[in-house]
Amino acid sequence: MKSAGKAELYRQLPSVDELARTPQLADLAAAHGSPALVEAARDLLSALRREIDEGRHDQVGLQAVLVDLSDRVASQLKKNLGYSLRPVINATGVILHTNLGRAPLPTAARDHLGEVATTYSNLEFDLSRGERGRRDVHVDSLFRQLFDRESRSSGRELATIVVNNNAAAVLLVLNTLAEGGEVIVSRGELVEIGGSFRIPDVMAKSHAILNEVGTTNRTRVSDYADAINSNTRALLRVHRSNFEVSGFTEQPPLPKLAELSRLKGIPLVEDLGSGSLFDLRSVGITGEPGVIDSLRAGVDVVTYSGDKLLGGPQAGILTGRPDLISRCRSNSLFRALRVDKLIYAALAATILAYIRQDYDSIPAVRALKMPADEIRRRVDALLHQLPAGSVRFSMQPGESVIGGGAAPSSVLPTVLLALEAEGWAADEIIGTLRLNDPPIIARVENGKVLLDLRTVFPAQDSSIVMALSNLASAAKTPGQDRAAHPHS
Ligand SMILES: *Cc1c(COP(=O)(O)O)cnc(C)c1O
Repeated sequence: MKSAGKAELYRQLPSVDELARTPQLADLAAAHGSPALVEAARDLLSALRREIDEGRHDQVGLQAVLVDLSDRVASQLKKNLGYSLRPVINATGVILHTNLGRAPLPTAARDHLGEVATTYSNLEFDLSRGERGRRDVHVDSLFRQLFDRESRSSGRELATIVVNNNAAAVLLVLNTLAEGGEVIVSRGELVEIGGSFRIPDVMAKSHAILNEVGTTNRTRVSDYADAINSNTRALLRVHRSNFEVSGFTEQPPLPKLAELSRLKGIPLVEDLGSGSLFDLRSVGITGEPGVIDSLRAGVDVVTYSGDKLLGGPQAGILTGRPDLISRCRSNSLFRALRVDKLIYAALAATILAYIRQDYDSIPAVRALKMPADEIRRRVDALLHQLPAGSVRFSMQPGESVIGGGAAPSSVLPTVLLALEAEGWAADEIIGTLRLNDPPIIARVENGKVLLDLRTVFPAQDSSIVMALSNLASAAKTPGQDRAAHPHS
């Protein structure tokens, strides 16, 4: 009986072709092409067949679905052709949020990237000689300008190359300098970052042999000196990006390690992680060494990320002694880890902003520098536009964090927009905000939903007002359907 009923329901479904040729869908077929429309119709009909099969439709229910079938095809098409990767509003106050794509690019980087992307370029073509060139010259010369003062004062020339990310940079430098040989690392620096980057694992993949020295909390220069042997190829210092060791601790100052490395003729490599090119001390953040600090201390090769505090595209940058950088460049791994023209374009524009000291054009640096007072004024302006009602909006002091493996214990004072609603759990509210278009990512603390505007672009404030106003009107009818709450 039941299966006969199903057969009857199946028969009422149009064929894929019939559905795709519905006159109401003609405009969509013209705009997106009929193959995409047919595909959407097919997806929709197979979903319906599945639902019938699961017994989720009776005669009346199916009729209700069939009357607006073309609308359903239209939304299926929109879904099929929509991007999965899309912009979100980061209201977490975490400036470099790895889950949210780390650093937003400067607009100049986007523009230059766009300019280079859709045409041919001189990526590997030397325009003055009319012959094959090298892709790395485009950023090497900019980094030389940036580090020029440092080079002149120390009398050391500095070269730079770029690979896919900092993990790749570490792999490349270890493999180049130490394949088959030993690398000395302090036991206090055998870090794991982001769940999959682990120093011992990268070391193994580079075919270098890890020689651990010292203890978790204390390592002295003499520990390195005692461990050096004829098979030692490098000393590696790793920045403790995402944790701190406190209490009875000791880590040799970088200049002392550099002195030992010079004395023994063994290169000192530093995995710096974030690699700031901006003086963080100027915004009150201490204990996060910058790239210049490391170079000045005498590190031979420093590796750092392009999309952490530097504020550019995902990349791994190696800066240091030209002879060592040139060896890394000649390694066939460099070819496998190289970056494409879009990254060179975006990185070059970002480095130019540093050369011009135009820090406010770099969103990550701008967010770092943003005074709490400026954030307070914006929160205040938002509060004036929000309705009074059952969702209570308020302002409270708080802290933003840098994230992305930088200054784990440093925080920046901020002003938060807080909201609470009677009978509406904070987790449910952030879920609703996540489904906003564009999605808004907020956090919950002590039962309150908190939004930190430090990481929200001022042009996005109006989207926040709109989303929160919708939330407020949805909350006015407790116990009933909340209009702004999807899936209810
Ligand atoms: C972030 C980080 C890495 C990994 O850099 P990616 O650019 O994410 O590959 C490696 N080492 C340290 C110390 C880091 O902080």
